[in-house]
Amino acid sequence: MFSKILIANRGEIALRIQRACREMGIKTVAVHSTADADAMHVRLADEAVCIGPPSSRDSYLNVAAILSAATITGAEAIHPGYGFLSENAEFAETVEEHGLAFIGPTAQHIRMMGDKITAKTTMRELGVPLVPGSDGALPDLQSAREVAERVGYPVLIKAAAGGGGRGMKVAKTADEIEEAWTVARTEARAAFGNDEVYLEKYLNRPRHIELQILGDAHGNVVHFGERDCSLQRRHQKLLEEAGSPALTDAEREEIGRTSTEALARMGYRNAGTLEFLYQDGQFCFIEMNTRLQVEHPVTEMVCSVDLVREQIRIAAGEKLGYTQKDIKMSGHAIECRINAENPATFAPSPGTVNVFHAPGGLGVRMDSALYAGYRIPPYYDSMIAKLIVHAPTRQEAIARMQRALDECVVDGVQTVIPLHRKILADPSFQKGDYTIHWLENFVAEQTKS
Ligand code: ADP
Repeated sequence: MFSKILIANRGEIALRIQRACREMGIKTVAVHSTADADAMHVRLADEAVCIGPPSSRDSYLNVAAILSAATITGAEAIHPGYGFLSENAEFAETVEEHGLAFIGPTAQHIRMMGDKITAKTTMRELGVPLVPGSDGALPDLQSAREVAERVGYPVLIKAAAGGGGRGMKVAKTADEIEEAWTVARTEARAAFGNDEVYLEKYLNRPRHIELQILGDAHGNVVHFGERDCSLQRRHQKLLEEAGSPALTDAEREEIGRTSTEALARMGYRNAGTLEFLYQDGQFCFIEMNTRLQVEHPVTEMVCSVDLVREQIRIAAGEKLGYTQKDIKMSGHAIECRINAENPATFAPSPGTVNVFHAPGGLGVRMDSALYAGYRIPPYYDSMIAKLIVHAPTRQEAIARMQRALDECVVDGVQTVIPLHRKILADPSFQKGDYTIHWLENFVAEQTKS
């Protein structure tokens, strides 16, 4: 096992990884920008190294500075967290070339899944069901028109290098395809320097359901059930649940089997998430994330597993040591992402948190790097906390989350807590009756009234 790990991230996820390390008796090295000198992840680490100025490009994305920090401190492995360098294949490669372990999949698998066209082709070959669409990149507008006619409108033009919902455009009818094609390619070129696009049928009322997978370096692959992440705004998830209120045990078992068999054939190692759109009892693969996800705690709560500990053990070459039948889901978990944003306009609300009180009690978990007096820097993501609850049933989990949100005090900045309260009180949410479009409509209704 490693004796020291460098965590190439900040905020709650850096703390989350530190916690697993500490319980495993592993020393931690934090890296930080000058804007984060007072951050909790720096204060709680065994060692900390400043790696550059506030801008992420010069600090948290600065590969040379991060590798130097690992070398000077004698770290043996790097955990990338999520975001930043977590899905950067060259980074994973460089880490290993420097004789350190990258706590994640191989660079080859990161690269393969980072290109969504290659990801889809690979998954199709491995027997995973896909959204109907083009068989790869679209060479020209004419072929986009042909595929759209074949699968039927509405359709979605998506960037091969896409992420964060960018480079994605809907064409409701044939009249809109030329514009969608042009806008998606322009956006993709600007955001990713790659204007390759593909086409998918646009599903009108799917749920976003994703499967948590772990594979070791010895060919064992298991899944930990699903998360329902349908509640999204501008393709950004806001509230997640495990399990999905829509899935039956038989459906979970079947998609779980298909997915784990596919990843075992790929020789996939470490944590990964297969994202699906689910409509009318059908699963359609859309992409795979080759890293730990923000919403991983809901899975941890229902499966009683520490996914970060498992990632570290796998990276150190250990065997999983259990099989699919040992993994049981128990009760229901919900996560609310608490962003420092105006709850109606979603404009970021950086500033100083004067008063902070974290909720507690049975089945409540708060993953956050906040403290009273903390100044939220304007340079990074606006998520300041994740509030997670676990209870025997979904209904009890909702009541517990409402109670926990009432206890939570974050004073000095605006947060989306009021919006979470409204969502949890809504009858359709309470019935579990929602799709990926539900939240946008809900927010629009709120601003009207
Ligand atoms: P990104 O990597 O940019 O997040 P994804 O492919 O994961 O892109 O899609 C993000 C979100 O966009 C999905 O969670 C879903 O809400 C929506 N979406 C993607 N593909 C489709 C589709 N074919 N039909 C309807 N909605 C889609």
